[in-house]
Amino acid sequence: MHVIVLVKQVPDVSNIPEDAWDREKGTLRRALLDSVLNPLDLHALSFAKMLTAGDPDAKTIYLTMGPPQAKDVLIDCLSRAPGEAVLLTDRAMGGADTPATAYALAQGVRRIERELLGGSREYLIVTGMQSVDGDTAQVPPQLAEDLDIDQIAYVQGVAFTPALTFRRIGATGIEDVIPATFPTLITVTACTDTLYSSFHATRASRKATIHTWNAADVAAAPTRIGIKGSRTTVYRIFSPSEDRAKTCEMITDPAQLMTKVKAKYRLATGGPAVHEEGAYALEGREAMYHGPFWVLAESEGDGVKTVSLEILGKTRELAQFLGEKVGVLLPAVSVSDELAADLIAHGADTVYAIEDPRLAEFNALRWKAAISALVLEHRPQVMLFGATPLGRELAPRIAYASDSGLTADCTKLEIGDFKANTAILKQTRPALGGNIMATIMTKDSPTQMATVRPGVFKIPPPDPTRKGEVVRIKPNLPDMPVSTVIPVESFTSKVSIRDAKILVSGGHGIRNRVDFDALLRPLADGLTALLGDDAKVAASRHAVEDGFTTHDYQVGQTGQTVAPRLYVAIGISGAVQHISGMQMSDTVIAINKDPRARIFNYADFGIVGDLETVVPALTRAAQEAAR
Ligand SMILES: Cc1cc2nc3c(=O)[nH]c(=O)nc-3n(C[C@H](O)[C@H](O)[C@H](O)COP(=O)(O)OP(=O)(O)OC[C@H]3O[C@@H](n4cnc5c(N)ncnc54)[C@H](O)[C@@H]3O)c2cc1C
Repeated sequence: MHVIVLVKQVPDVSNIPEDAWDREKGTLRRALLDSVLNPLDLHALSFAKMLTAGDPDAKTIYLTMGPPQAKDVLIDCLSRAPGEAVLLTDRAMGGADTPATAYALAQGVRRIERELLGGSREYLIVTGMQSVDGDTAQVPPQLAEDLDIDQIAYVQGVAFTPALTFRRIGATGIEDVIPATFPTLITVTACTDTLYSSFHATRASRKATIHTWNAADVAAAPTRIGIKGSRTTVYRIFSPSEDRAKTCEMITDPAQLMTKVKAKYRLATGGPAVHEEGAYALEGREAMYHGPFWVLAESEGDGVKTVSLEILGKTRELAQFLGEKVGVLLPAVSVSDELAADLIAHGADTVYAIEDPRLAEFNALRWKAAISALVLEHRPQVMLFGATPLGRELAPRIAYASDSGLTADCTKLEIGDFKANTAILKQTRPALGGNIMATIMTKDSPTQMATVRPGVFKIPPPDPTRKGEVVRIKPNLPDMPVSTVIPVESFTSKVSIRDAKILVSGGHGIRNRVDFDALLRPLADGLTALLGDDAKVAASRHAVEDGFTTHDYQVGQTGQTVAPRLYVAIGISGAVQHISGMQMSDTVIAINKDPRARIFNYADFGIVGDLETVVPALTRAAQEAAR
């Protein structure tokens, strides 16, 4: 089996020099950052090596797109594991957003297949789960969409017998997936063996031939690459501190921290920390887009996911500013009248129940076919998805298939002015590893699409008197072989930490299960005594994977969304998937030995230090303050 490894050159966000910060604007001067191979692509390199090991005929081809200097990352790859390398470089490809990038890469893959793989279709395209600069994870599914191939996202492992099987984080749990056809695109989240370069391999890689192709070499249409082919544009870049709900106060004295926490806890309302936007009125301005606002809802049990209702509430508010209707799309085996009525009560004017037994399980190709047909027929002006594993895999495909602009992982949505007297959807998201915020707008495309982080918007109270219509649709699904999915572990939790008022949450920074229990439980007991509410213990996904506790206690995108009055994050880095599950917490304390850990961006109070000494000190302080 041949492997094409997609890699990207990115700014080194782990090592930001002081002068790279523009203190006045609060943004980063990107040109002053070192350029490195996207660290998440290192997993793809190791994974590719596992896939090709033992097969002397298997070829590994590294592919990247970028300026001529991007050649350096190909040399880096070749020094870690041998192969061939292709650089797509052309001034006209610069400034591309994700569909323009995916299109150019797809053209590159087609030429690789023809010329470097001799026409063979027996290959996998392997890449990291996202790039640390863009953080969108949109290029891989859009590339797969262009090539009309399947994608297996968030892969964590592989087995070769009895069939080639990938273990991955799926929409509802851990799954084993056996691809039905080749080529297939794999995005890799983790691979234990990092490949290092040897001195000799580094020397050899510098002499290796790198195929350098421009737009014409891969027959890329000039209108589909670079800025011309892009469907989104960055409107504004600004500092996260302007947008941040929290400014972290660093504290060194545990007793002082407990005094402050006690005072804040008394005042806490328990309500979510959400971005509330002001009202908007057209008042003589023109709307730049026309048509309904749509939401893709995701089923969960007999209802829909919390995030779907959060987005629906926000969509209702935005649509009202422009006097437009709200549609909710719900793909399922069947949609009950009660569920449709509930969606109407939560803000839908029309519920499109897309019903087919083959929609019981999520399959990106089938779901895309069913939904993009409706998008092309009705052309909503806005379509929003949850930034869930399903939404992040599906939305890029639907956007690509319907030629729509797409912004990933939005934390703020507002109708605002664009140029003179036109109203548009402004989509704000963190970028560059959370170091900057970017407001993005859709251009040259009929539909503005975005994925929205769970836990950002409040669910408005339902109004059972609202009226709406239910449209039942039998989708025309393509008859195609689909990959076999075998569930391994379900994400449905038996224990609820959702209602806890105080959560003491531990991460991978805690070294073992014994410490996890020995450190967290006493602190939880101390806080219970101090604050008078029952404190529970929770965990990050990494801590669950380490075996410190079970998935029932996991907070985050694939765990539970919590909104306690106090959340204590211990040895947790603050990955986006964790933050999305706890950002509604009222007061957050972060304990981390790394002063630059992202978790501090979401904390009210922080202690920088070794958790092994900080946590017992905090426990003692809580016990003493409780006396
Ligand atoms: C599709 C998908 C879904 C996901 N869903 C979730 C989810 O629901 N929930 C979730 O949490 N993650 C989720 N993840 C994983 C997520 O990306 C991160 O990998 C995970 O949150 C990291 O966990 P962590 O912060 O415990 O570990 P790490 O990122 O390894 O961080 C450990 C932290 O501990 C600190 N530390 C180390 N030693 C000490 C010490 N002695 N004292 C103090 N600090 C110390 C380090 O500085 C570091 O910041 C998901 C990923 C994917 C791809």
